[in-house]
Amino acid sequence: MRAVVLDRAGTPLRLSELPSPEPGPGQALLRVRACGVCRTDLHVLDGELADPKLPLVLGHQIVGEVLVSAGRFEPGSRVGVPWLGWTCGECRYCRAGQENLCDRARFTGYHLDGGYAELAVADERYCFPIPEGYPDEQAAPLLCAGLIGYRSLRFAGEAERLGLYGFGASAHIVCQVAVAQGRQVYAGTRADDNEAQAFARSLGAVWAGDALAGPPEELDAVIVFAPAGELVPAALGRLRKGGVVVCAGIHMSDIPAFPYELLWGERVVRSVANLTRADGEEFLALAPTVPIRTEVETFPLDDANRALERLRHGELRGAAVLVP
Ligand SMILES: [Zn+2]
Ligand SMILES: [Zn+2]
Repeated sequence: MRAVVLDRAGTPLRLSELPSPEPGPGQALLRVRACGVCRTDLHVLDGELADPKLPLVLGHQIVGEVLVSAGRFEPGSRVGVPWLGWTCGECRYCRAGQENLCDRARFTGYHLDGGYAELAVADERYCFPIPEGYPDEQAAPLLCAGLIGYRSLRFAGEAERLGLYGFGASAHIVCQVAVAQGRQVYAGTRADDNEAQAFARSLGAVWAGDALAGPPEELDAVIVFAPAGELVPAALGRLRKGGVVVCAGIHMSDIPAFPYELLWGERVVRSVANLTRADGEEFLALAPTVPIRTEVETFPLDDANRALERLRHGELRGAAVLVP
């Protein structure tokens, strides 16, 4: 099969011919129909996440057609493979229903080969049926940008005035859910990113502008999607008492020191890590009812490096998706 491979951090992906993967016990063999590109892929590529499998096939938003199933799926059906690829089922977190925090979790496109390839294997217990009515490439970003964005939104609680800082793949999905729930969305972007601001307004944001300065109104919660630590004190500075700043990314530059006054008043800063299977089932059932429409830019497999660089430089509208 053809795949794009990461040999070591800091080097571009290399298009190569690999032996077809063999499904192990409990695994399905999938033909990859689309695979979303996530900022986490950039963090792995840049060496910001420790100890990836190497060489590695990136990609953890896989929409695949089942070629061989271990029993859970009909051959020919469509399934999604998310970031959470395997958990131990035994540690204190797994036993407490927090499998997203499993001490021994293995993640797709990080510890396990992912979907920047023509074929992939995945543990069927962690796959999701893809809702009908979504074309492959539009379903792919639901699997991480959507799913982890949705988990982040849950941690924003009942917030009516909701800030979304960093308006990329995840925010453009969360914005649609939040607007459908009757919330007001305030989209923070780079000061001069008029295109992202217009995109946010087109999806129902009541305000879009410079995230560092923030909107004139006080916010009930802010979800920070951009990996920029300086956005945390900036968001706290716009937050009402008792509000929460949710950091949705897996990696962020250092958060600068800030006066305690910004946190005082029972304001909270928290992160969101990974996903549980329950998150995925809940979100994929919700998506068609909103209905969430994902905006995607597609790339062939051998253009994976270009897709990642466009993501790095904030040049995408919505999500990048590889179509092998
Ligand atoms: Zn992701
Ligand atoms: Zn565990």
